[in-house]
Amino acid sequence: MSEQAEQHEKHAYYSRTDTNKLELADSVWKKILPEDLYEVARHAATERAFTGKYWDYEGNGTYYCAACGHALFKSDSKFASGCGWPSFYESIRENSVRYTSDTSYGMIRTEVLCGRCNAHLGHIFDDGPAPTGKRFCMNSISLDFEPEKQSR
Ligand code: FE
Repeated sequence: MSEQAEQHEKHAYYSRTDTNKLELADSVWKKILPEDLYEVARHAATERAFTGKYWDYEGNGTYYCAACGHALFKSDSKFASGCGWPSFYESIRENSVRYTSDTSYGMIRTEVLCGRCNAHLGHIFDDGPAPTGKRFCMNSISLDFEPEKQSR
């Protein structure tokens, strides 16, 4: 097994290639995810701004769902928002993520969830750059970064 494959072998349901919906009981998620990721992914917790590993990261590659391995964002669409969380102006594919209305904390926001496992990723706002004008404001902990192969 390659070092990369080993690095990403997190749990039996984690897959970079299986795009079928993944529905697991909360008790299973609690068992297979690290506690801090579980709180964000399954209970919509938010990491503190400027504390995650990707908010100002500029590597070239792909961001996957840390909970299930689903491909979410390309680094091409990442931009420096200054908000303290990794920000993107578009997802890899339309169905990479799904959206739901979030009215918690007295705000009306659109929550962004993983299109495969429904993990909470963050929120989307309308103050992003061209061409979409969107800002996907994501938790670093919800993302796994895979650098682009050097030999390309
Ligand atoms: Fe996921």
